[in-house]
Amino acid sequence: MDSLTHAFSISALLVATGNIGLIPFAALGAVIPDIDIFLGLFSKEIPKYYLFIHGGITHSIIGALTLGILLSLLYILVLLTAVIHYISIQTSLTFIFAFFVGTLSHILLDYLAYPGIPLFAPISPKKHTLGVLPGPHPVFLFVSLIATFLIIENVNIFQIMGFYSSFFLLFLFFFFILKIYVGFTSDGESIPSFNPLRWTIIKETQNDYLVSVRSLGSGISPLVTVSKRKQVSLAEERELKKIPEIKRLIYNSYIVSFEKEEDDFVIYDPLRLNGHFYYPQNYKSVRIKKEDH
Ligand SMILES: [Zn+2]
Repeated sequence: MDSLTHAFSISALLVATGNIGLIPFAALGAVIPDIDIFLGLFSKEIPKYYLFIHGGITHSIIGALTLGILLSLLYILVLLTAVIHYISIQTSLTFIFAFFVGTLSHILLDYLAYPGIPLFAPISPKKHTLGVLPGPHPVFLFVSLIATFLIIENVNIFQIMGFYSSFFLLFLFFFFILKIYVGFTSDGESIPSFNPLRWTIIKETQNDYLVSVRSLGSGISPLVTVSKRKQVSLAEERELKKIPEIKRLIYNSYIVSFEKEEDDFVIYDPLRLNGHFYYPQNYKSVRIKKEDH
């Protein structure tokens, strides 16, 4: 989800629940997990830090709580500098609570979308998603931009947020219903695209991934069948999976294939390599020299 949509969705909830005064604090909390767009350099330079990437460690429960704590400390620091006039402890605690509501709302919303977030990082790097949305949906961004424009134009905030939440919930509900329908009537994992009528279906068998595209209305068409391993043993795969570059590749991939090419191992995500999925854009394949291994 884009940052503007994160800020608007929590603001709409606060307006609806009569907590309009908490919007600046919760909205700040709701956008802060995306600060990880500046962390990508760590994972680029040092592969073992692959969780320091957009959609990485700050998008876990522990990451969100840590960011909430950091914002709270920053708030206390500002209070101590006495720039702000007296604020009661109870009010301060409410503001701090709003930071946490914000950071956790970010995790909750991103959990709805592919490619998912590492909810339990750093304990486990596995990504989790409810798989309802294909990622930051341009329709959400568009509606958030309209809402921003209406605020600048001084339109009544209750009207804007009423319109915003109705649209937001309806759109989400629409994708939810589709996900349930496609999920129950397809054999495999169903991944939405920006076009709600087009879904990618990944069926996993013991040795292969069978990928097809399902167009609601015009049926299912096979896209590609990929072997999990080509001339690579299970033991070799297990060893390869310990290499930081490969952990980073797996973290960013939908499916991964291990192949032996002459004397090298080539590990890749065929669906990002062939352009079927454009995101995440980096770490689509790794070549490991056999002598290095
Ligand atoms: Zn995010």
